[in-house]
Amino acid sequence: MRAPVLAANWKMNHGPREAESFARDFLAGWHTVPSGVEVVVIPPFVDLAAAQAAFAGRPISIGGQNCHWESIGAFTGEISAEMLAASGCSYVLVAHSERRQYFGETEESARKRILAAHRAGLKAILCVGETLEQRDRGEMEKVLVSQLEGGFLGLGEGDVAGLVLAYEPVWAIGTGRNATPQQAQDAHAFLRGWLKGRFGPRYAEATRIQYGGSVKPENARELLGQPDIDGALVGGASLKAASFLKIVQAASRP
Ligand code: PEP
Repeated sequence: MRAPVLAANWKMNHGPREAESFARDFLAGWHTVPSGVEVVVIPPFVDLAAAQAAFAGRPISIGGQNCHWESIGAFTGEISAEMLAASGCSYVLVAHSERRQYFGETEESARKRILAAHRAGLKAILCVGETLEQRDRGEMEKVLVSQLEGGFLGLGEGDVAGLVLAYEPVWAIGTGRNATPQQAQDAHAFLRGWLKGRFGPRYAEATRIQYGGSVKPENARELLGQPDIDGALVGGASLKAASFLKIVQAASRP
């Protein structure tokens, strides 16, 4: 049984003070979080210390929004996976569509970041997903395969142990237009099938695949109720503790 993983991607929102008040409000509702659900908060880098202190001693994981593939060196403005680990992170987002779209990230850089995360003992959350034009052209599967093949090129099962995959159709991110539960389930089943072919049935069954794209309290239960949807990567609706709590509550499994 895969434990659902619900992650709050704050993007470039909230400073340390807002992170602290989010933590206070979120922890006040912690008793409503179903058991067996994993929660990850992924704030901007400058909030990591505040988030770590505010959630200390609670079963809430912290993640970074990105990492460089080198451990250390002359890369001004970059943060390494080892630095994230030393700051209390256990997860890192890799190749979020905004990174692909605005910062030129490629399959090759995704692969290098996956390896860096593994080296530092972090779990990568690898984001994949098609644009609306690609979906309309009937190319969803082709796009997902090319992102997966490129991202995992040359990697063995050991390199991707514990990795979480996030299916995030680009047309659903920040647009208010979520994939229907059936569209999301179809894509997730396809991704799991690909993982099975590449790494075998044991790995495919154990790997959690999150859905991301306009998840809100109103649509979370139906999306999270699909058999191959193992949690959500939530942007806008994770900025307020009350709304993220409602999404987390919707992840209970019978
Ligand atoms: C995201 O940032 O990964 C995301 C899915 O954003 P939103 O929930 O706002 O669509």
